[in-house]
Amino acid sequence: MKYINFHTHFPPADTEPEIAIVSCVAPEPLQQCPSNIWLSYGIHPWYIHNTDTKNLLEKVKETAHNEQVIAIGEAGLDKVKGPALELQKQIFCQQIDISETFKKPLIIHSVKANNEVLSLRKKRKPQQPWIIHGFNGNNMEMEQLIREGFYLSFGPRILYPDSKAAESLRDIPIDRLFLETDHTNKSISAIYIRAAEIRGTSVKKLEHAIKNNFKHLFGDIVE
Ligand SMILES: [Zn+2]
Repeated sequence: MKYINFHTHFPPADTEPEIAIVSCVAPEPLQQCPSNIWLSYGIHPWYIHNTDTKNLLEKVKETAHNEQVIAIGEAGLDKVKGPALELQKQIFCQQIDISETFKKPLIIHSVKANNEVLSLRKKRKPQQPWIIHGFNGNNMEMEQLIREGFYLSFGPRILYPDSKAAESLRDIPIDRLFLETDHTNKSISAIYIRAAEIRGTSVKKLEHAIKNNFKHLFGDIVE
C-alpha cells in the first residue's frame, strides 16, 4: 500500500511509495508531476501583498480546470505573517467560492485563526469539504472543528512528544484525519509510524483509514 501525503511542497521521487498532493502557490505555474501525484492550487495568505490580487484570482480560476488539480488551496488566514487580516479574508472568501464552483475541496492554512475559519464555515455553509493542514491545535479546538465537519491534516509537529498536535491526533476521529510532510524534508513514512504509535494502532490500519478518507473526498482516484 502507498502512503498518502496530504500536503507537500515537493513532488516525491518516483521511487517513493507515496501518493501526494503537491501544493502549488499562485501565481507560480503548476509543478510537472507524474499522474499518480495530485496538485492543489491557491493563493497562500503570505503572498497576497504587493501583487495584483485580481490577476491571482483569475489564475486560480483558470488553473482549477486542470484535472490534476484536485483541491483549491492552500488558502486561508494567518495572524502571524502576511497582510492585514481583512484583505486575507477577502481573498480567502473568493477562494471559498472557487472551491464551491469547481466542486473541489479546500485546503486551508490557518495560523492562530481557527476561530475565524470556523465562523466562516458556519456562515458560508459550503458543500465542499474543508481540510485544515498542519493542524497544531489542542483537543478542544480539534473537537470544535470536527463538530463543524472539518478534516484535519497533521504534519511533522507530531514528532515532538509535547506538541498540542500529538495530543489532538491521539483523539481525533479516524475518519477525519490526514497526514502530511508540508515544506519539511521529513519522510511521510516517519510521520505514519509516529502517528500509529501515538494512536496505539498499526501503520497498516492507519494507511487503510486515510485511504478511505481520501476516497471520500476525491472519489476513486487511488486504487
Ligand atoms: Zn504548505
